[in-house]
Amino acid sequence: MSEHGAGAPDGTGTHEEPRTAGHGVAGAAADAGVPVAAGEDHGLAEGQVLPTWLSRDRTSEPLPAETDVVVVGGGIAGTALAYYLAKAGTEVLLLDRADLNREASGTNAGSFHIQLAIHQLPATGSAAADTDRLLTEAALNLEAYEMWRTLDQELDADLGVHITGGWMVAETAEQLQVLHDKRELEQQAGIVTEVVHGDELRRRAPYLAPDLAGASWCPQEGHANPLISAPLYALRASEHGARIRTHAAVLGLEHEPGATLPFTVRTSDGVVRARRIVNCAGAWAGELGRLAGLKLPVRREGLHVNVTEPRARVLEPMVQHIGRRLTLKQSSADTFIIGGGWPTPAAPPPRRYPTAWESAAGNTAVALRVMPLLADVRVVRTWSGVIVFTDDLSPVVGESSLVPGYHACIASTGFTLSPLLARQLAERMTAPGDHDPFPGDYDVDRAMHRAPSVAPSTTTP
Ligand SMILES: Cc1cc2nc3c(=O)[nH]c(=O)nc-3n(C[C@H](O)[C@H](O)[C@H](O)COP(=O)(O)OP(=O)(O)OC[C@H]3O[C@@H](n4cnc5c(N)ncnc54)[C@H](O)[C@@H]3O)c2cc1C
Repeated sequence: MSEHGAGAPDGTGTHEEPRTAGHGVAGAAADAGVPVAAGEDHGLAEGQVLPTWLSRDRTSEPLPAETDVVVVGGGIAGTALAYYLAKAGTEVLLLDRADLNREASGTNAGSFHIQLAIHQLPATGSAAADTDRLLTEAALNLEAYEMWRTLDQELDADLGVHITGGWMVAETAEQLQVLHDKRELEQQAGIVTEVVHGDELRRRAPYLAPDLAGASWCPQEGHANPLISAPLYALRASEHGARIRTHAAVLGLEHEPGATLPFTVRTSDGVVRARRIVNCAGAWAGELGRLAGLKLPVRREGLHVNVTEPRARVLEPMVQHIGRRLTLKQSSADTFIIGGGWPTPAAPPPRRYPTAWESAAGNTAVALRVMPLLADVRVVRTWSGVIVFTDDLSPVVGESSLVPGYHACIASTGFTLSPLLARQLAERMTAPGDHDPFPGDYDVDRAMHRAPSVAPSTTTP
């Protein structure tokens, strides 16, 4: 069984989650909640009433000739941004080439990554290196946790937020040292973590393998439902006056500096002129950047997730690994969701990133090593999603200084972070003088400072 890159903290994140079949969910009518039936495999509690969706007629209106802000991308980043902008009274048009929430935001695990994790560590594996970046990221994670805790109230619906706490396990003495090192940084950033081992770990986490070297506990970790979150942001954005337009791919962008409406956005369904534009295109953000002649520090990868048959409830917290790719949790439907950033190879369209046996096998082998109780539990389904990674692990957020009016909102652990980053970006777009600029690490133009500019091009999404 091959273990692709396990233990190589190369930026490939810890991700997973129940991709629900969406039984009656995505197609729900606009004005009725959808009760969840027993036994459905989607991580929702039985009886939970799903909030309503934007109806088709509200996402297929003709494009306006002009607007203040065009947001490109209907994942969680774009829908959250549209919500916060519209709530602040800004005229906003959100465009997606397909339906909402069909890419990373609807295929992820919904995990809140709060303690520092393998995908954030530098290639040395040492948490002591890259201290400034890690402190900034830990503080951002903590702020994201604070935001998710109250997001139900903000959006007036049940997003399936569960703060369960999370373990980050270590198998070796070296990995245990990384847990201690990163704990110091987490404490400085205000995140509560403790390193536990021996009998205490076996007492507190009897479901884990008894011979693990130790584990770091973070009570602030948890998860929410990715099938609800972005669609709900879109619904609330629309209620605040945002226009949401699906099946309108952005194919070209012209920029006329100094004009009142400097951006001409060419889509598969017409042309819109805008004062500002925001790239929320996730794994396709690089292509969207090139339309404006910008090179963004991003790359696209496919990630793998597995789900098992349901078993008696045994695991409440999330479990991750500091040296190998693993995220593991038991969903509300009692299935185990096993992910952690195992790769899926790129393939020509329409397959894109098909699931791979090697990844499914390697991923589940790590899960089994950490939680031997899974030995006779059958994997019933695997799926893949497409994620954007930034080269230097930091988000890409803010306004370009090279193309004024061109903004981006891109993050790798974007389910955790995008609502917060979108809110922060909306605040800066609506009242720039009232807020500090984003940290320099997030600079939209940072790759341009390192590389020659690239010629504008059109994209085929
Ligand atoms: C398998 C997997 C598991 C993950 N697990 C987690 C997790 O547990 N926790 C966590 O924090 N993060 C996780 N992530 C990462 C997280 O899902 C993403 O960071 C986040 O969803 C990104 O949201 P987004 O809105 O930026 O991008 P997306 O959700 O990918 O949305 C981008 C949108 O842009 C649209 N688009 C692209 N190009 C164009 C164009 N030219 N014109 C119009 N529209 C366009 C696409 O159709 C798409 O709808 C996971 C990712 C994957 C793939």
